[in-house]
Amino acid sequence: MDKKFLSKQKEKMFLNKEGLEKKLASFAKETDQKNNWTAEMPSFDPGTSLEEEVDEVEEFGMRLALEQTLENELKKVDIAIEKIKKGKYGICEKCGKPIPKGRLEAYPQAETCAKCQ
Ligand SMILES: [Zn+2]
Repeated sequence: MDKKFLSKQKEKMFLNKEGLEKKLASFAKETDQKNNWTAEMPSFDPGTSLEEEVDEVEEFGMRLALEQTLENELKKVDIAIEKIKKGKYGICEKCGKPIPKGRLEAYPQAETCAKCQ
């Protein structure tokens, strides 16, 4: 794979990473572990009605799910950046064939080709 393409991909992924971290930071806290975030419980005011509490619990559930998704994405980005360093970027994890450039352009941290997805 040519260097120009790789550096472009790297740039894209750093931007992705920034975006993901920003989103996470809006409702979660980063733990001591790298790329490990924890969603924050919405604040419970004393005196909230049961109905409001139910809403908050629901919201917390959504935050947890979103936090998981964003965190996984973040890990994928890091793995892909690591692969560029090792010269193994763009190889499908399942079939070992090169992932088409178009797919990598659309989704730089792709781990598999479209067939193995
Ligand atoms: Zn494949």
